[in-house]
Parts: sequence; C-alpha cells; structure tokens
Amino acid sequence: MSKVLIIADRVIAGPADRVIVDGAVLVESGVIGAVGGAAELDAGVDAQVPRLRCPGATVMPGMTDCHVHLAFDAGPDPIGAVADADPGELSAAIADRAEQMLSAGVTTVRDLGDRDALTVALRTSIASGAAVGPRIVAATAPLTSRGGHCGFLGGEVSTDDDIRAQIARNAAAGADLIKVMASGGALTPSGPRMWEAQFTPRQLRLIVEEAERHGLGVAAHAHGSDTIAHCVAAGVRTIEHCSWRTPQGIVHDPAVIRRMVEDDVAVCRCVSGDWQLFLDQMGPERAKAMVEVILDMREAGVRFIAGTDAGVPGARFGDYVGMLEFFASVGFTPAEILDMATVNAAHALGLSDTGALSPGMRADLIVVDGNPLTDLGALRRIHHVFTAGRRVTE
Ligand SMILES: [Zn+2]
Repeated sequence: MSKVLIIADRVIAGPADRVIVDGAVLVESGVIGAVGGAAELDAGVDAQVPRLRCPGATVMPGMTDCHVHLAFDAGPDPIGAVADADPGELSAAIADRAEQMLSAGVTTVRDLGDRDALTVALRTSIASGAAVGPRIVAATAPLTSRGGHCGFLGGEVSTDDDIRAQIARNAAAGADLIKVMASGGALTPSGPRMWEAQFTPRQLRLIVEEAERHGLGVAAHAHGSDTIAHCVAAGVRTIEHCSWRTPQGIVHDPAVIRRMVEDDVAVCRCVSGDWQLFLDQMGPERAKAMVEVILDMREAGVRFIAGTDAGVPGARFGDYVGMLEFFASVGFTPAEILDMATVNAAHALGLSDTGALSPGMRADLIVVDGNPLTDLGALRRIHHVFTAGRRVTE
C-alpha cells in the first residue's frame, strides 16, 4: 500500500488535548508511520513519498458511530422494510449506507442489530478490500424476549437454554459482541413499555457470563431506570440510550451512576441529527429532565460515546455531526465531543488500534476544513477520509 505524508495546520492526535500546530502524519502500509511537526517530518521523510498538503485544515482520527442499524432504512416503517426485503437488495442497501457513513468521516461503526448476520458479510468484504466502507463491529441478532423489542430480527429467547443457544448462534455467525434488549423500545409498540424490563437480573448475568465464555462483551439497550441498574450490576460494557425512564418520568440513581464510572461502563446516549424536532415533541419539561440527567452523568464522570441509532425512523445515515451538535447545545465542549466520537468510543468498543493517531495504529483518519476544536461545523467539511490507510475521497 502506498505511503503519503499529510501536512496540515494542525493534527489532533487524540485525545483532543494532544494537538500539534503545523503538524503532519505519515501513513504507510495501512498504519500510522509517524506523527509530528510538519517541518520535521517534511524534511525527514523520503522525498519520493507523496505529500498531501492541506492548508487551513485539521488532521484527526476517523470518527466512530457506536450505535447504528445498517439493515434499517430510516423510513417510517423499518420493521416492514427489513421483513419484506429481498436478501440481495438488503445487502446492497446495507453496503450503500455503510459507504455513506464513511464519506461523512465515520471510519468505524458498531451495528447493534441486523438480520441474518448481513453486516458480518459486509465486514468481511470491507476487511478484504473487496468493498469500501467503515470498519464494522457487528452484534448480529439482538437478544430479546418473546414478542419483545425488535424480535423480528431473529433473537427472541425465553429460557436459559434459549439464551445460551442464541449467543452461541451469534458467535458462530461472527458477532463481535452481544446486544441485549434489556428493556422495551419505541420501535416495537406491541412489546413491553420502554421502562419495562425484558429480562430478570439473573438472566442479564447469564447473558454477560455466556457472552464472556465466547470472548464477547455485551451492549445493553436500556431505557428503564431499574433495567439500567440491573445491566450495570450484571457487568455489561455499554448502556445504550440510558434514558432513566420510569412510569413516573425520568428518575436516575446516583449510586448506579457511580458504579458505572467505577466499572467503566460507557453510555451511548443515542441522538439523531433531528434532535431538535425530537425535543420539541417531548415538550419543554420532559426535554429539560432528559438533558439534566445527561449533565448529571457527565458531572459524575461517566464516559459518553457517540451514537446516532441511524436506521430507526428519522435517524439518517449521513447526519453524524448533527448528533454531535446536540451535545454542544447542552454544554459539552468541542474537545469532550471529539473524544466521545474518537478515543472514548474506541476504548468502550475494545478497539486499541483506532480512535487516535499514534505510530502503529490503523490509519483511520480524516482531514477537515478548519478547526473542529473551535467550530464543530468543521466536521461537516470533510476533505479526505482514510480507512486503514486507504484514501476513499478525492
Ligand atoms: Zn438501536
């Protein structure tokens, strides 16, 4: 694979406080060869190596969307669309959506629920170079209760034996992690309510233990406050949504939040690019409560990771930055937001070779116009995207 030396006004090496003004990054054989000052690397690197000069731009790690559903079309009825789709057409649609995310600067996606392990097939063809797309971390069919949230994806279980068998099936299909629908969800109105548990605390522990036996971590979809507490106690790695719902409204438990910090359980508070519409529909009081609990978790030191839930109604695939802007609107700093999208996401996903720019790491990086540390909108102005050293934009 060819080498290139990228030279820009600044390099954000990751975390976001590691900035090199007038910096450069050497990409060689798919990995980062060197990171340093532009003058030093320009002088030190063989003159035969092409230079990609990017005045006014920033080089930074490629971003991660920790929560997507590549099999869903973001239309009003993703369930029907997935159920009716011909497998060939669905595979092509999944590949298109993945490519769209990569063009938006997202070099890693974690898919948290698909059908027939189609994302694993795409992961394989991307990794082999046959297809162009982001790195995929795939959960395949989420475990859910009978008639429960997203049961149409094929992961319905009720007994302990069902749980063991489904985890074994997912592992055999090539899953990188196990997803459990620990509480109900909005997409499945016929199932349990969003705050209602779909599994007992004992079953959640079994799911975590069984996943570990296969070398896999667990991501838990959890809206309900009790369910969140049970998932944290069971030892899941990430809590998806984490909206602290109860029949009485939003009620969070500071002791559970402390445990999340101690046990390094990350929160993927999924927000779509259309968050303003979502907040308007919630009404001012509920929206305020939702934001307050996010700020309380942040204050307590919870590790937030970035996710859009792309594919569910209204959550489009190309609008990753819209989600990041929600966090800016509630007071997160650009540096915190960049870390959610890069180093923190990689850490929570157990990926030690992406999310930052250091020698030996995968060359997953983007070049954006301007400085995202002062203007998050810079992330919408993508000049170049590299995934494992492969340049995918002109
Ligand atoms: Zn989801």
